Amino acid sequence: MQKENIGDGMGTTKIEWCEKSWNPITGCSHSGSSGCANCYAKRMAYRLKGRHGYPKDDPFRVIFHPDRLDEPLHWKKPTRIFVCSMGDLFHDDVDGFWLSAIWSIIERCYWHTFLILTKRPERWKRLTPSLQLYKNIWLDGSPKYIKNIMDTFRKMLIAGCIP
Ligand code: SF4
Repeated sequence: MQKENIGDGMGTTKIEWCEKSWNPITGCSHSGSSGCANCYAKRMAYRLKGRHGYPKDDPFRVIFHPDRLDEPLHWKKPTRIFVCSMGDLFHDDVDGFWLSAIWSIIERCYWHTFLILTKRPERWKRLTPSLQLYKNIWLDGSPKYIKNIMDTFRKMLIAGCIP
């Protein structure tokens, strides 16, 4: 079983392409993508129901965990961090204020690299320019997803919407 960052403050993960995971948001629901059929995060949330911040009645409900927000600030060594491995950062139930708080940590933690993977790039598009593509953000996912995000930011750069 993969060991995930379930709120122990250590950010432990066995996902090969990152060194830690950071889950200030947990929970999600089917996005309409076929990739959701075998959702690892959902399986894990149900396994942990009633523990580590996963509600007993609805373990995969979208929840903000403010107590986990500052975890990356305590990791002093430059680290590749998977953001929101136990949900989708851009789910409709993720409040804009929560996202602003997360982005503020990403901006402050310039020594880390934050990997963001979402099946909802359209929502990210709608929330720009407040959620900028900082230099320490890496995108991962399908080429279509990356192209979609990059096209959005390219257009905004050309339009002078972001510095
Ligand atoms: S976490 Fe990802 S794979 Fe799982 S249901 Fe949400 S979007 Fe789908």
